[in-house]
Amino acid sequence: MTSLADLPIRDDLRGQTPYGAPQKAVRIALNVNENTHPVPVEIIAHVAAAVERELHAVNRYPDREFTLLREHLAAYLSSSGGGAAAPVLPEQVWAANGSNEVIQHILQAFGGPGRRVLGFPPTYSMHSIIAASTGTEWVAGDRDAGFALSPETAVAAVRRTDPDIVFLCAPNNPTGTPLGLDTIAAVYEASRGIVMVDEAYAEFMPEGQPDALSLLPGRERLVVSRTMSKAFAFAGARLGYLAADPAVIDALRLVRLPYHLSGLTQAAAVAALEHAPTMLRTVGAIREQRDRLLVELTRLGYDPHDSWANFVLFGGVADPHATFEHLLAHDILIRDVGLPNHLRVTAGTPAETTEFLDVLARMNQ
Ligand code: PMP
Repeated sequence: MTSLADLPIRDDLRGQTPYGAPQKAVRIALNVNENTHPVPVEIIAHVAAAVERELHAVNRYPDREFTLLREHLAAYLSSSGGGAAAPVLPEQVWAANGSNEVIQHILQAFGGPGRRVLGFPPTYSMHSIIAASTGTEWVAGDRDAGFALSPETAVAAVRRTDPDIVFLCAPNNPTGTPLGLDTIAAVYEASRGIVMVDEAYAEFMPEGQPDALSLLPGRERLVVSRTMSKAFAFAGARLGYLAADPAVIDALRLVRLPYHLSGLTQAAAVAALEHAPTMLRTVGAIREQRDRLLVELTRLGYDPHDSWANFVLFGGVADPHATFEHLLAHDILIRDVGLPNHLRVTAGTPAETTEFLDVLARMNQ
């Protein structure tokens, strides 16, 4: 049988492993930080009608500039909770098939062979995987106690590594750790390159909390990426986006494939954004389940880390593999993120959270 090693594959891809969160058919999937609530039925009808209208034009290539979608994303960002200091304009917005592709575009335009990107592990695993696939060197900075990242610690890493790109993740996956705007601003001041803040989980932050969008004015190297995969419950539609200076968007046009966002994706996303408040109505309930997990996991003797996202990383797990398998035997899938004595669980519906906690409680009896 042919193996990868037999192929004339790029030297820098030899020995690498692909992103591999298990996809298993389970009753309760709390492993990849999706919104576990389905899209409201009234929105499904609205999105379906929009997609159907688009199908009548599907013989033609879609709007390469996804103009209408950018207008809707800009309007959403300008009105969203954390509040931009200035409105986000359509020419400041970029979108792609999931924020993973948005991140790839950043690396293709600003990274590449001979360039390096600084990240702060443990963090979102795709940051280093996409870096590798674009030939960008990944360098790791340290975190402080409890996975926090202070301005001093982050700036020291920037000074030490002189990166072309810095990836920050706020709140951080897989730890849930919040990131202060002071750290983002300090990293920006200390660096010469692109500073990207991955805010995939921004909507789950405490209400009214300022987000990195508020730092955009006057910072032309700052990029804030978002996704409809989490709070919007739209992971299957694949729509990620970012806000930045219009010049950054021009740079991304150089690396995107023409018509990268299908007309069906654009139509579906616009229809969903027309009902943004309804799409986001489960966010409060998810925050409640996250906070419940923090309380109940502590009561069960674990050591959960404070989280501003829709998941909780908990330590104090004697044998993560055994606990993972025990939950799986009860049709509950969570995530072993490879941190010793830790597991990560997504905040699901109240019923899902209850069942997860009950199985854990009985296991510990
Ligand atoms: N960034 C972070 C921090 C994530 O956790 C994820 C998904 N797990 C993504 C980006 C990518 O999400 P998507 O491609 O679905 O937008």
